[in-house]
Amino acid sequence: MSVQLGEMPDSEGYFGEYGGQIIPPELKKIMDDINDSYEEVTRTAAFQEELTALYTDYVGRPSPLYYARRLSEKIGGARIYLKREDLNHTGAHKINHCLGEALLAKHMGKTKVLAETGAGQHGVALATACALVDIPCEIHMGEVDIKKEHPNVTKMKILGCTLVPVTRGTRTLKDAVDSAFEEYLKDPVSFFYAIGSVVGPHPFPKMVRDFQRIVGQEAREQFLAKEGCLPDTLLACVGGGSNAMGLFTAFLEDEHVAMIGVEPAGRGLDTPDHAATLTLGSKGALHGFKCYNLQDEAGEPLPVYSIASGLDYPAVGPQHCYLKDISRVRYVAVDDKACLDAFMTLSRLEGIIPALESAHAVAYAMQLAGEQSSDKSILINLSGRGDKDADFVAEHLGL
Ligand SMILES: *Cc1c(COP(=O)(O)O)cnc(C)c1O
Repeated sequence: MSVQLGEMPDSEGYFGEYGGQIIPPELKKIMDDINDSYEEVTRTAAFQEELTALYTDYVGRPSPLYYARRLSEKIGGARIYLKREDLNHTGAHKINHCLGEALLAKHMGKTKVLAETGAGQHGVALATACALVDIPCEIHMGEVDIKKEHPNVTKMKILGCTLVPVTRGTRTLKDAVDSAFEEYLKDPVSFFYAIGSVVGPHPFPKMVRDFQRIVGQEAREQFLAKEGCLPDTLLACVGGGSNAMGLFTAFLEDEHVAMIGVEPAGRGLDTPDHAATLTLGSKGALHGFKCYNLQDEAGEPLPVYSIASGLDYPAVGPQHCYLKDISRVRYVAVDDKACLDAFMTLSRLEGIIPALESAHAVAYAMQLAGEQSSDKSILINLSGRGDKDADFVAEHLGL
């Protein structure tokens, strides 16, 4: 098993039966070019040095590994550690892969980087990376989301990206994807579509994972240095799955390290209002790759929901689908209520306000830690900070 996991995906971009390139032949050629450039450019010492220097001096890596003593003692079970991706520049793990993608686009001589954004997190991280790398950036965003996510919209404007408001359909994420993709198809040779997670056609699930694997590499070394052993369990929230793959990749061969991905159960798994793709989805294809997804009988994506907008995606990265099938990673779901409870608990016990996305992982850790003894350890990827969610939570809880 270990050899296979280390070598994934295969040359066609498959993780078992998942992934691949479910796209028109013209685009396949473009994706193959990106893959070739990626393999060539990122292997050079110059690219690695450039990226490593940015991770260190710009992002602020390595992010700390923090023992959450008060949280652990309050629960009275397993010890809980946080990998502090919330402390990165721009406040989340997304900057790790956005910098990698922007640099790659620049090295390939692309003239514009394009993407959609829902809540604006991917948009801000990408606009940041593009400002730094000096490449034009165009972000498509639904009008409804533009109204809702004002601070992120302002940041994107300040950072100098072109913001394209999307007025079609429901004027939310799905329409923004369609709009950005149409623009991309006008000149895919010159443009670069920067996918925001370990999803999309090959080579994106591989590339984004590789740009995120620094998280797990650091966490593994930091935990070993602190504790002299590896953690018993890793936990990360799963939307598309990039922060989880970033943490898990460095531990895939350590068979005694358990891994758990936490999906959003929203208002409950027995309601339509969730985005628990691996928990309740079925096999299909979406956005250019094969994966589990939440779809209707005709194979159309179902509307999904989570209190954490970064997690409401009806598909999930192909490597997660594979890791689920071989039972290397277990996937569970946490609802809005437990998420909010974890959000407040971490804030009040540790003075760390987590992103609502990350709070899903914290919520499951709190549950699991209570069932275990203090000789066990749980390492959570705290994927982002909760500044963006503070007003919403305060209003929601009537604070
Ligand atoms: C976008 C986002 C996520 C979800 O994306 P993944 O690709 O599943 O990691 C999780 N946490 C935060 C803070 C995010 O901004």
